[in-house]
Amino acid sequence: MQLNKAKKIVIKLGSSTIIDAKGKFKKKWFLSLIQDIKQLRKNNQEIVIVSSGAIALGQSYLKIQNKKVKIEMSQAVASIGQIHLINEFQKIFEKNKIKIGQILITPDDTEQRRRALNARRTFENLFKLEAIPVVNENDTTATSEIKYGDNDRLAARVAQIIGADLLIILSDVDGLYEKISNKKSLIKQVDIVNEKVFSLVDKKINTYGSGGMLTKLEAAKICVNAGCHMLIANGGKFNPIKKIISEKVYTWFKPKISNLDARKKWIISSLSSSAKIYIDHGASKALKSGKSLLPAGIIKIAGNFKKGDNIVIVDNNNIDVARALSSFTSEEINKIKGLQSNQIENILGYASKSEIVHKDDIVIL
Ligand code: GLU
Repeated sequence: MQLNKAKKIVIKLGSSTIIDAKGKFKKKWFLSLIQDIKQLRKNNQEIVIVSSGAIALGQSYLKIQNKKVKIEMSQAVASIGQIHLINEFQKIFEKNKIKIGQILITPDDTEQRRRALNARRTFENLFKLEAIPVVNENDTTATSEIKYGDNDRLAARVAQIIGADLLIILSDVDGLYEKISNKKSLIKQVDIVNEKVFSLVDKKINTYGSGGMLTKLEAAKICVNAGCHMLIANGGKFNPIKKIISEKVYTWFKPKISNLDARKKWIISSLSSSAKIYIDHGASKALKSGKSLLPAGIIKIAGNFKKGDNIVIVDNNNIDVARALSSFTSEEINKIKGLQSNQIENILGYASKSEIVHKDDIVIL
């Protein structure tokens, strides 16, 4: 696919892409991005912007030098900075006669199916109103356990939920590099996001953002599973999108060919989960042949989870076999694991489903 063929594009802007070293919003650069966006819109391409920068702008406004403020404080800083961020956006977009709408998201909004569908509807309605959705994490209420923390994965999940064809991550690097006989060379295209690709990552992160390359690869994993293309490019220069098209300097991640429906794509690309169900060989075979998961095949579980939560199913060789939604709480499963389905009601004291995970809620990895 080429960039100009994508119907829906999510553009992710990192803090250091839109804010300079002195902590000021890069107005001229942003204006050049808007020129590019106008061009895409002329071509009937829908645009979503995911932008970081609330904390960085808040810090510079409040003259807080510390790079890493404590989470409780960063929530307050973000609540101040987000106003500055969206004001800068609003002023420049307004001058260019483009409407915008602000969407602040927490992981619950993307990880709970009903809320994700709700969010999707809001995006669709903003498109109908010809407005560009501008998204950030709701840092003011997100705490460390329930936080994306980086907008790379958030942007990927948004791309998946709205059925985007392409996510463009504008960063301060040209893309993903590999070392060939001690020389760094840019990888043009990644066909499979596997361990080998992850092993190329330099763990160092940039000045403002909390992301770095690792979260970008995790974002790539979400995208490719969802059938969405992703590219990482340098947003440092003016007219960054035009440059991507003309200079072709980037790393492009190709999506998996998949016949999963939208709901199953949502399940497979859900955020990494610490909630796990460990199963025996027989259950693993049954799952792979399209059957539901029954209590008899469950060996143990890890983590606390609720009904409907996203879980990982792990086989007897400790390999992740599936992503799924649990029909039972972790507490219930602990009581009935290893038992026959007809014993469930007796043990729990109430009637319930006989499958722990229904086959419609399972996606084999
Ligand atoms: N949501 C954070 C902010 O607006 C940034 C997260 C990230 O670094 O990606 O400051």
